[in-house]
Amino acid sequence: MTNTIGWNFDNSYARLPQLFYTSQNPTPVRSPDLLVLNSELAESLGLNAEELQTDQGIAILAGNETPDGASPLAQAYAGHQFGHFNMLGDGRAVLLGEQITPQGGRVDIQYKGSGRTPYSRGGDGRAAIGPMLREYIISEAMHALRIPTTRSLAVVATGEPVIREADLPGAILTRVAASHLRVGTFQFAAQWGKDGDLQTLADYAIERHYPAVATSENKYLSLLQEVIKRQAVLVAQWQLVGFIHGVMNTDNMTISGETIDYGPCAFMDTYDQATVFSSIDRQGRYAYGNQPYMAGWNLTRLAEAILPLLHEEEEQAVKLAEESLANYSDLFKENWLKGMRAKLGLLKEVTEDEALIGELLETMQEHKADYTNTFRALTIGELEGQELFQTERFLKWHTQWQKRLELEDSQSNSQKLMKTTNPAIIPRNHQVEAALEAAEKRGDYEVMKRLLHVLSDPYAYSAEQTEYAAPPAPSNRPYRTFCGT
Ligand code: AMP
Ligand code: MG
Repeated sequence: MTNTIGWNFDNSYARLPQLFYTSQNPTPVRSPDLLVLNSELAESLGLNAEELQTDQGIAILAGNETPDGASPLAQAYAGHQFGHFNMLGDGRAVLLGEQITPQGGRVDIQYKGSGRTPYSRGGDGRAAIGPMLREYIISEAMHALRIPTTRSLAVVATGEPVIREADLPGAILTRVAASHLRVGTFQFAAQWGKDGDLQTLADYAIERHYPAVATSENKYLSLLQEVIKRQAVLVAQWQLVGFIHGVMNTDNMTISGETIDYGPCAFMDTYDQATVFSSIDRQGRYAYGNQPYMAGWNLTRLAEAILPLLHEEEEQAVKLAEESLANYSDLFKENWLKGMRAKLGLLKEVTEDEALIGELLETMQEHKADYTNTFRALTIGELEGQELFQTERFLKWHTQWQKRLELEDSQSNSQKLMKTTNPAIIPRNHQVEAALEAAEKRGDYEVMKRLLHVLSDPYAYSAEQTEYAAPPAPSNRPYRTFCGT
């Protein structure tokens, strides 16, 4: 088969010890139909977007054909799911291989919803159109918000039903990631690896994501510290845009620092630290305000897993791990504070800033303000459309903020900073639902395409974005998302 699409695979993961994966082809599907293709992403990976839309291209995106050089496999991993440790693995995903991009980058190309694997447990290995389109929309929105994330290359309908509460049309998402190494991959190696497997995995992660630490004195400790750093940056970014992951189990936390596994995630409309969307998160373990702590908890699991690599004496290893983990909350806070200052146009650092930020957030919580639109209004200087803006508490805060802005060197720089930090729009749940409903019920993909278009530059503050900025109409039913869909 000639390779006109541009596949250029080098499959380093398949060279790891056998323990880490099972060779596995996708299960062919009846009648593939391309629903959405990310042409821009395709081109950046060295893939010809035109060719991907031909029958052969679609057959590949459906898992019906394997491109030359691919080495399909399902990855093994473990993970703490809502606090409980389990053996997991790709139950409905298959890694096609690693595409080497024209810039020399290396990314995983993975199918999601491509059939059963040895790690499927009771599952059918499949996915429905709705949740796959939802992952496409939200992951691409996250990318446009400049937040590290896996990307979505395409969604293909399979022409086969998947059985959930009702029969739903099936689909396969092609996901692109820096890698699919997870905290749970290390937990798996620690629990079930034989001599040297854990170290092999750690060396692999260093080579792939943190080559700079290869020469450091204790490279495994440096690896831990780097992952801590990236996760602190990532979760701070989530908090700053009001993103709620929903299922921060250790198998859903990457070593690369990318957001992964868009299941029951959603963006917060009304600001409330206790916001939970996931129907299965009854205790609020992964509530908005808890995310920074849960990331720290997950990082502690990573540290435990690699403990034997940190020092040959366990006591010393624990001490080193604890010292590194102790930095996490400071790193998170530092990143979050920097981001919050930027959201308020503050380039200088003044001690009182933290109190100023805290007072705004508390006022927002008290008056049930819309998170994104509060910062949007401050950015464009139009304090309209929310009860918050008429309250005495807010007006007092606003005067203080104006005074604080006077300490800045340039008002126009402050304004610019706010515009590049506060998104004019986010993927609002009601807009995402409307796009999915049009696609699923009416076969109308235009609603989704328009939404993807406005979300592709969330800092544009363009006229066409205005209607997408509106919060949902008041409802007495809270928005709910579902897992394992
Ligand atoms: P998640 O909560 O989506 O991260 O998934 C947790 C685990 O369940 C992972 O091992 C998934 O591969 C597996 N899984 C989720 N959905 C399915 C499915 N439909 N069939 C098989 N395995 C699944
Ligand atoms: Mg997962």
